[in-house]
Amino acid sequence: MRWDFPYDSPSQITELLDRHGLAMSRRFGQNFLLSKEIRTRIVSALELDGTEHVWEIGPGIGNITSYLIDSKADITAFEIDRGFISILRDHAFKDVENFTLIEGDFLKTWESVLAEKGTPDVICGNLPYNVGSVIIGRLLEKQVLPKKMAFTLQKEVIGRITGESDTKNWSTLSILSQVDFEVKQLFTIKAGAFYPPPNVDSAVILYTRRDTPLVPDEKRELFFTIVHDLFSSRRKTMRNNLLHGSLASSLPKEKIIDRIEQSQFDPMTRGEVYSIAQLLELTDLFLD
Ligand code: SAM
Repeated sequence: MRWDFPYDSPSQITELLDRHGLAMSRRFGQNFLLSKEIRTRIVSALELDGTEHVWEIGPGIGNITSYLIDSKADITAFEIDRGFISILRDHAFKDVENFTLIEGDFLKTWESVLAEKGTPDVICGNLPYNVGSVIIGRLLEKQVLPKKMAFTLQKEVIGRITGESDTKNWSTLSILSQVDFEVKQLFTIKAGAFYPPPNVDSAVILYTRRDTPLVPDEKRELFFTIVHDLFSSRRKTMRNNLLHGSLASSLPKEKIIDRIEQSQFDPMTRGEVYSIAQLLELTDLFLD
């Protein structure tokens, strides 16, 4: 039997933390999601049937985790805070069979869990806002591609994930996300739904893996070399970024200039205007 704790009550949470001599830490981006309705909406969006292996990043004291556990899926949760770890391990989910706790910094622990247990079917979490985009970027760069991912994040980061080409939100994070996933902001969350309330607006993003990625495997490495070059200095032209980035370390500059001049691309355009389809055409120029 799992713990039945009133996760929607700030006073009970404070009392629990006091009893264990713990306090919330700003350093670890700790804002507990109180609203039961929102916690259940996040878990429902994952459409779990109980057969999945699920990673939860930053379970805190288990307010979303408890619903994940109820789904019967196999849950692996990654938590950095020693105090929360002891609550999860010794109290909340002590003898729960479908719950495994990985202690420490997710950014340092996830790769060994991946190597041991393989890619999870689902990843979720009310992410610590200070490292949320870093966590997502790392997973995507290493091509960890679960069927679904759902995260609570500040709206500004979700704007960058769902951004479109030729807007200020279009970034390497948008491209990394959209090559392999359809991304959709599900709903916004008012600050008052958290304890303590964050001073930024929040929302939930859903990633759904595409059947076929927008960039074929054999072009992926070159595609992302070009993307990183183009976004290394957003104010520079496409030509300048390509001549002074990683592409130029594997291809002679004359060849780069030649290929651009023979194409329909305007070398003086800034790279951030290109859609994924256009970036793929640009990649094709340098394939051999
Ligand atoms: N899941 C809880 C909820 O929804 O209320 C807590 C979410 S709180 C925004 C973020 C959680 O991530 C905290 O429990 C925090 O200690 C944990 N955390 C912060 N940085 C972390 C890291 N690098 N690795 C693992 N957990 C981390």
